Amino acid sequence: MEFTCKAFSDRSYKVHFEWGILHRLRGILESEKLTGPYFIITDKNVYKHQHRRLDEALKGSNFQYHVVPPGETSKSLKEWSRIQDFLLKKEADRRSVVIAFGGGVVGDLAGFGASTYMRGLDLVQLPTTLLSQSDSSIGAKVAINHPNTKNLIGSFYQPKLVITDPSLLQSLPPREFSAGLGEAIKYGVISDPDLFEMLHRNIENVLSFQREHLTSLLSRCIPIKIRVVEEDERETGLRKILNFGHTIGHALEQATGYKLLRHGEAVAWGMLAAGYIAIHRNMWNPEESEKLKSIVVRSGALYPLGTLKNKDIIKALKHDKKKTGKSLNFVLPERTGKVTIVKDISQEEVRAAVDYILQFRH
Ligand code: NAD
Repeated sequence: MEFTCKAFSDRSYKVHFEWGILHRLRGILESEKLTGPYFIITDKNVYKHQHRRLDEALKGSNFQYHVVPPGETSKSLKEWSRIQDFLLKKEADRRSVVIAFGGGVVGDLAGFGASTYMRGLDLVQLPTTLLSQSDSSIGAKVAINHPNTKNLIGSFYQPKLVITDPSLLQSLPPREFSAGLGEAIKYGVISDPDLFEMLHRNIENVLSFQREHLTSLLSRCIPIKIRVVEEDERETGLRKILNFGHTIGHALEQATGYKLLRHGEAVAWGMLAAGYIAIHRNMWNPEESEKLKSIVVRSGALYPLGTLKNKDIIKALKHDKKKTGKSLNFVLPERTGKVTIVKDISQEEVRAAVDYILQFRH
């Protein structure tokens, strides 16, 4: 399957999506005149599990790896700087192509690294997690973290290509897979009632990695992300709907020091909270909210919240509001497949929603 993500001026790019497409990588790159040399940025886990397949796919071409430690801490100035050193040492020039081979961390870090070296090298996203395949590899947001603020240092930098091969997910640890499902479920609620129904019926088949179901899931998520970013490339309007589940989700990540939860897990908890607020405002159908609960529970994305308390989460929400100087916005469903941004959520509503999710915290 091939999708095109239209961006302003000449920055549109293709998203190639197919089970096993990796073995055609070299031909696809060359057909887009991306002949290399290729500088592959990856992390230690992805390298360990998948580099042989990539070596095979690029056999005969000029390519080199730069391997970063796995995890969010690699989205740092230090790792960004090491990428610039690597590219300089290997004499990367304007013909060079940076391939981001990994999850959202590698995609964001390598993407930002590519965007700054010599004012921008060609970038190819080759995502290897469910989250990066369904979401972060599309949309051109690249960033590293400031010690105080996630994703503060970054830019919008379109890749030349996105190549998505779901077979790469076979080595993904189950927890990472479930966390990625958190974001995929989000697409059902914000934009696609059929996807929501499909997940309700088949989440176990997706979890057990059945090719047909996983392919069907991604083939629905990818065009939704493309449509949203096409309509709102620089996140001034429609793209905000992607933040469904993120208000409480961010607060959970912050309250747990970005260590306890994967991003998709925090979003899964946040979606439950947002669903609760929506039904108590009579905005959404309680049956649909129960379905959402059933899907997220069965997805395994509700990682236990431990000893976290209501006041910790509220404090994190207040901190976020103070830091950004913006009001707390909640993206809430009006019906499955249609969400709206609501700005007048009261403290009581937030507290009640947090109490609601904390019931399930173990
Ligand atoms: P990740 O990149 O940290 O990957 C999760 C873990 O899985 C890591 O330990 C990694 O080494 C391992 N891994 C990845 N692929 C593997 C594979 N095929 N086999 C074995 N192990 C594998 O996490 P993620 O959830 O993909 O991404 C999270 C990041 O994405 C966050 O930093 C978030 O800010 C960012 N993000 C960016 C956007 C965007 O639009 N740019 C959108 C959403 C999230």
